[in-house]
Amino acid sequence: MVLPIYEIRSLKHSYADQTVLALEHLTVQPASIVGLIGPNGSGKSTLLRLLGLIERPTEGKIFFNGLCVEPFAYEARFQITLLPQEPLLMKRSVFRNVSYGLKLRGNQNNLIDRVNAALSLVGLPSENFARRPWYALSGGEAQRVALAARLALRPKVLLLDEPTAGVDAASAQLIKEASLRARQESGTTLIVASHDWEWLYEVCDEVIHLFKGRKLGTGRETVVFGPWQPREDGDCQKVLPDGQLIIVPKPSHPHACAVIDRVAIARGDKNPEVKAEQVVLSGIISRMALEHASGDVVVTILIANVPFSVCLARHRISSDGFYPGCRIWLSYDRPAVKWI
Ligand code: ADP
Ligand code: MG
Repeated sequence: MVLPIYEIRSLKHSYADQTVLALEHLTVQPASIVGLIGPNGSGKSTLLRLLGLIERPTEGKIFFNGLCVEPFAYEARFQITLLPQEPLLMKRSVFRNVSYGLKLRGNQNNLIDRVNAALSLVGLPSENFARRPWYALSGGEAQRVALAARLALRPKVLLLDEPTAGVDAASAQLIKEASLRARQESGTTLIVASHDWEWLYEVCDEVIHLFKGRKLGTGRETVVFGPWQPREDGDCQKVLPDGQLIIVPKPSHPHACAVIDRVAIARGDKNPEVKAEQVVLSGIISRMALEHASGDVVVTILIANVPFSVCLARHRISSDGFYPGCRIWLSYDRPAVKWI
């Protein structure tokens, strides 16, 4: 068996007594691509900082290459590099920014070539960009310089925190391609937090869903936020803007989040027959993404403004005639709803 590059045991992180991350166990294989998905505040950046060894977890252990590592551990720190959500460039030229980490590591061999190669990977030819000062870059170019500075180090692990958020489409594409090249050419392990689900499903060996600091099942569940209104039959409901009702068993408190698993979808013009305890809703397929790891297709369905996801075997897409924009019926069993 291959030694995992990371192993996390009973990791917990808190700020002012509030636990923002609690992960019992997690392993990451070397040269794999792991995606982190979750709403804002779910702990993605915190997890990346802990894996980047730049913050001390409140509890628990992180093993890197089989060894328990302390934050700021010198050896490991030089093999791991984090591109934060809003990277700051130094008030220097592009060349100085990209070469800084290499110099810091005493890695001065072929410095110019390595900087040029890294810049070229992110689509910034050095003849045009190496001398540019930090203030003469667009947002997308600055993000690419920050990435080039990390790629130049040929890290064992590259941690990317929302690398394509808020950059232009061309920069986003170049950032994605350059990250994948690093994995392909240097065997770099990539751990990426992103809202770009389609990209993550397409490229990742594993996608981890975080919710309120915890790993949420397989990530194929749908989470529906409250508040929930009581119904006469004892269950609770959420009224959607189009009048449809998401009906669930009574939660422990009105603002609990419902986890709806085992969702089924079907096409058809007529209202389907509804079995007792089953909820049927009408929606539109908003997107479909091929899940690289399983070969299945993750289908997102909008029921009014609430996104549901369901994972289907690839053959069902053509046999059932599903496509983005197509209207479908979605059903789930009320008693199967769980709470977090
Ligand atoms: P995400 O990246 O998924 O949006 P974060 O890891 O940034 O989530 O945040 C998780 C939770 O931790 C949030 O509730 C956030 O407010 C809190 N948090 C993050 N950093 C700090 C900090 N330095 N001090 C206090 N709370 C923090
Ligand atoms: Mg974040």
